[in-house]
Amino acid sequence: MVSRVIPVDAFDLVVFGCTGDLARRKILPALFRRYCAGQMPNGARVIGAARRDMGGDGFRQMTAEAIAEFGPELVASEANAQALDGFLAHLDYVAVDARGDAGWQALAACLPEDRVRAFYFSVGPALFGDLAQRIHSHGLASAQTRIVVEKPFGQDLGTARALNATLAAHFDEGQIYRIDHYLGKETVQNLMAVRFGNVLFEPLWNSQYVDHIQITVAESVGVGGRAEYYDGAGAMRDMMQNHLMQLLCLIAMEPPAQFEPDAVRDEKLKVIRALDPVEPHHIVRGQYASNGVDQTGYRDEVRNPRTTTETYVALKARISNWRWSGTPFYLRTGKRLAARSSVINVMFKDAPHSIFGAEAGRHANVLTIRLQPNEGITLHVTIKEPGQGGMRLVDVPLDMSFADALGEEGENPPDAYERLIMDVIRGNQTLFMRGDEVEAAWGWTDPVIAGWQKRGDVPKPYDIGSAGPGDADLLMRRDKREWRGIRP
Ligand code: NAP
Repeated sequence: MVSRVIPVDAFDLVVFGCTGDLARRKILPALFRRYCAGQMPNGARVIGAARRDMGGDGFRQMTAEAIAEFGPELVASEANAQALDGFLAHLDYVAVDARGDAGWQALAACLPEDRVRAFYFSVGPALFGDLAQRIHSHGLASAQTRIVVEKPFGQDLGTARALNATLAAHFDEGQIYRIDHYLGKETVQNLMAVRFGNVLFEPLWNSQYVDHIQITVAESVGVGGRAEYYDGAGAMRDMMQNHLMQLLCLIAMEPPAQFEPDAVRDEKLKVIRALDPVEPHHIVRGQYASNGVDQTGYRDEVRNPRTTTETYVALKARISNWRWSGTPFYLRTGKRLAARSSVINVMFKDAPHSIFGAEAGRHANVLTIRLQPNEGITLHVTIKEPGQGGMRLVDVPLDMSFADALGEEGENPPDAYERLIMDVIRGNQTLFMRGDEVEAAWGWTDPVIAGWQKRGDVPKPYDIGSAGPGDADLLMRRDKREWRGIRP
């Protein structure tokens, strides 16, 4: 399969926070990959900005080191290693303080042309408002300007509204790109292609045929270097309100009239607004705990022995609309679980009647959508077990691993950040969250968190490397269902 690269016009991309973790791990390697794919036109420039005084050479050296550290495969081939110098020639650096006036004139001098200009806010959220205001007051905003805002987008509905208002004071909604990198994943877009590009699934995609849907985003790592931020947030704010909510929307939404930004986002918003409030007994919170021997539990990791921040949350969500009334959605996410695995399982109902008798067993179809690792889609179908011995039924996977089906391009789909940054340059907001979506998601999340605070809820401890607290299994068992295993 031949890779298709859609050309973009020359652009200026200013990465505020270019020396930080996200820029080094994701943004700069993603840009280099696009360069290698031939998608960075001559004249395109990436301008790093942060407070420290490192100069253009320092930034280019730091970028080369970041690519070697976080994308060693990118420079493993001779051709790409040689390409690195070409990529670095597109880079420049300006020392800028988001909270003061230092550096802004120099930045303006770096941006003489009126062309697509994107400002990536890869800094702490406390600086988003300062940056928006200073970009504006220093005359750096034009009709071709876009801003890219990282998560977290607020801590609750009130702060999200305030942030939306601050950004709206300086930019139109059409210029604001709120990143949720889950939306940039190849499989997430494939989910829409599978649903809306085939006649097979959509007639079955409702409560008449779907028993329930499971969405799991499991991480094997702990909080790492994000302890301070994470302890003030927890899994509900850090993962459920954004990543799992977005996946839920894409699974549950009605077909938009066109694959066009506002048409897609309108349908997603309707899903969030149709969500019932979560009942307290439909939610389980957990916190990973030390085994007392050789593992560090969450409380030790964040050096807060009494913290009640959850590192795991599982819940049952209901969508009150014609399509989904009666079909529950079970969502769970957690840290230090058995494996790193992000999977959606659409669990279809049993056949209404088995003509093969009780001994053949009951078999339901499952559509498994794997987001990471090994992106791909598998449909489990029931067939006859081969050989003698009567009609015994067995489930077999019809596997559509992208690596197998699409060759090299399937094996190495663009990283979410590559796709999303290029969408910003192209001016395509389909895979970015709109302000009202973010606020609606907080509106659903806030009462859950407020309920915990009011009740003084303490998360259930769970073993590192497990599937989470036992109460999450009970949540399913009460409904005569069970979670699919968490496997790499
Ligand atoms: P980080 O490692 O702490 O980096 C922060 C960056 O901001 C540094 O480059 C810092 O450089 C710069 N900075 C700080 N104060 C500044 C100021 N007053 N003016 C200009 N620059 C300033 O943070 P990060 O982990 O990269 O995260 C950046 C953003 O992405 C945050 O909003 C975070 O929530 C979000 N995010 C991060 C990840 C991740 O994996 N890291 C994932 C999802 C979302 P100087 O000190 O030199 O100024």
